[in-house]
Amino acid sequence: MKPTTTVLDVARIRESFPILQREVSPGVPLVYLDSAATSQRPVQVMQAIDEFYRKHNANIHRGVHRLAEEATEAYEAARGRIADFIGAASPREIVFVRNTTEAINLVARTWGEVNLGAGDVVLLTEMEHHSNLVPWQMLAAKLGFRLEFVPVDEQGLLDMDAYKELLGHGPKLVGFTHMSNVTGTINPAAEMTAMAHAAGAVVLVDGAQSVPHMPVDVQQIDADFLAFSGHKMLGPTGVGALYGRQELLEAMPPFLGGGDMIKRVSLEGFSTNEVPYKFEAGTPAIAEAVGLGAAVDFLSEIGMAAVHAHEQVMIAYALERLEEVPGLRVFGPAPELKGAVASFTFPGAHPHDIAQILDSVGVAVRAGHHCAMPLHQKFNIPATTRASFYIYNRIDEVDRLIEGLYKVREYFG
Ligand code: PMP
Repeated sequence: MKPTTTVLDVARIRESFPILQREVSPGVPLVYLDSAATSQRPVQVMQAIDEFYRKHNANIHRGVHRLAEEATEAYEAARGRIADFIGAASPREIVFVRNTTEAINLVARTWGEVNLGAGDVVLLTEMEHHSNLVPWQMLAAKLGFRLEFVPVDEQGLLDMDAYKELLGHGPKLVGFTHMSNVTGTINPAAEMTAMAHAAGAVVLVDGAQSVPHMPVDVQQIDADFLAFSGHKMLGPTGVGALYGRQELLEAMPPFLGGGDMIKRVSLEGFSTNEVPYKFEAGTPAIAEAVGLGAAVDFLSEIGMAAVHAHEQVMIAYALERLEEVPGLRVFGPAPELKGAVASFTFPGAHPHDIAQILDSVGVAVRAGHHCAMPLHQKFNIPATTRASFYIYNRIDEVDRLIEGLYKVREYFG
């Protein structure tokens, strides 16, 4: 049944997103269903960046002049907001990075380099994004440890019995995505972390899709590391965060070498700065971090439980309508087990062609392997078309997607 409303005042939210007012061609309004790739940004984020450059711009941490102090304050305030947003015990546990990919590479190249070696096991899952797979493959080739994978069933859920069994192999690290960017599957992060800890493993959670879309509390999950990107949660590109438990961050060697990450340097060597600065070599994305702080404020004002509730209504309706389209196959579990992501195939139509026809009616979706080739291999398909929803999507935009898909059906017979 078509819902009439969700918990969010979407019309009011949309007022903050000028891009959503545009047409993709004359008379064809944009329906943006590609937020799993990157979200749109509200004017509040653009204004925060604009104001930073207009009034406060300077390099941070080393200056004593007024602007340098203001810029440092704005950058560190953003760190504090992000820490609160994910329930970190201290802002020191938030390392600014470029994105989820860099956050995971940081863990692999610092924690991994000193804690992993021949004979060790790192346990991942078959549903990982390449960014939580390739860094470990690269490191495994160098250090000689073994990668193992929790299998995914045909519904797109992890096989928890297999997980239990694989934990018996004594992995040093367990890494899994909190929410799949293909099937939308939400993995039971707290339960999986407790099981991994009981087996003696350190836990890294890929929060690229969960942090923007649902309440995520690192203390409730008890994660050791959580990686996420600003650009998927209304923030700018070029900035993201790695949460790391403080004692782990303190024990890790630095990642990149250079300015800001040091305490003292001589020609003979260096000593490292305290956390998190030890991991922030060079001038960071200052204005972008400030923009991410504004994005966190925007999301916090709405409330992450409300964001998730809205998306549950959207995905339940989207799945119901998608099921009506003859021949269409949607991947992933029931709506209550997933986020607002629907990936599908249509017999006889290539995912890219589907996306192109949808684009002609203004509906922006993504087609391809979504940087999760192993998961597509598991499903025996080369690619899918993916529609994903966020706080600014209206219920009637699901109908636009479905109308577009009937057009695809007409075209391909
Ligand atoms: N993990 C997941 C689950 C993702 O969806 C993405 C982005 N598609 C990433 C990691 C990588 O994020 P980024 O490209 O911002 O580093």
